[in-house]
Amino acid sequence: NYTEEECDYLFKIIIVGESSVGKTSLLMQYYHHCFQEKRMSTLGLDLIFKTLKVGDHIIGVQLWDSAGQERFRATSRLTFSGSDAVIYVYDITQHSSFMEIQNWMKETDQYCIDNLYLMIGNKIDLEEERQVNTEEAKEFAKEHKMNFFEVSAKTAINVKKSFEDIIHNLYFEA
Ligand code: GDP
Ligand code: MG
Repeated sequence: NYTEEECDYLFKIIIVGESSVGKTSLLMQYYHHCFQEKRMSTLGLDLIFKTLKVGDHIIGVQLWDSAGQERFRATSRLTFSGSDAVIYVYDITQHSSFMEIQNWMKETDQYCIDNLYLMIGNKIDLEEERQVNTEEAKEFAKEHKMNFFEVSAKTAINVKKSFEDIIHNLYFEA
């Protein structure tokens, strides 16, 4: 890992979505390569700083986990200002969490100017409990010009790939 001063680029990415969709778990998997079954309720905001090398450049990424924010949306403005990208997360076994993405989009649209967007459908290890059709989600993402991945924070499938997709896209736009 590099220090913030060593980075050629710094990006701020915020992660939103309903409670329990697995936002914190995704970050834990991406950052610490681990998964916990029990709910890791977080108070307020969590910030993870990760660095990676792309080509000759060192990129620093601040990942903001909007834990607890589900209930305190008034803090949105502070969280979202100055962001470069938004990741919308839903749980493929909870159709309501997919429907909620539209509300999150309204919320983030007010503050996240010129952002890149990514949508993640989490918990694909629970395929037998699936409530959100892949094609339906893909269509929705396309309509809103977002990249889209289905992942599992539990098995780690597609987790690194989805985070690096948005980070690489930020880099190529910078
Ligand atoms: P958050 O409220 O969005 O931050 O959600 P958490 O990360 O706290 O996860 C909520 C619950 O879902 C926890 O019990 C996690 O263990 C579980 N969970 C998260 N991701 C997955 C996943 O990919 N598969 C399964 N089976 N459970 C998951
Ligand atoms: Mg959380």
